[in-house]
Amino acid sequence: MTDIHPPSRIRPDHPHRVLLIDWQNGQKCALGLKHLRGECRCAMCVDEVTRERLIDVDSIPEDIQVQEMSLVGNYALKIRWSDGHDLGLYTWTTLHELCNPKDTP
Ligand SMILES: [Zn+2]
Repeated sequence: MTDIHPPSRIRPDHPHRVLLIDWQNGQKCALGLKHLRGECRCAMCVDEVTRERLIDVDSIPEDIQVQEMSLVGNYALKIRWSDGHDLGLYTWTTLHELCNPKDTP
């Protein structure tokens, strides 16, 4: 696994329903909040064994918001969502992958 440098800036833009991320290499990225909520990798949202997504993406409110963000060590971002889910854990690697989707067929 490659070492991903932490973003230099992260802030939610609720009017546009995105999370804005500035990476240290200058890349700027806007991730849809609903999409990001659905990509939560915690044990409640993803089966740890099968990696199957347990969360019903359609049940996520369109206007979901970030209520609180905190850093976990120097490797991840923890998000408390307005739907009450407060285990949202996003490593820099995960965020980087979401910002740079692989061109899979
Ligand atoms: Zn989760």
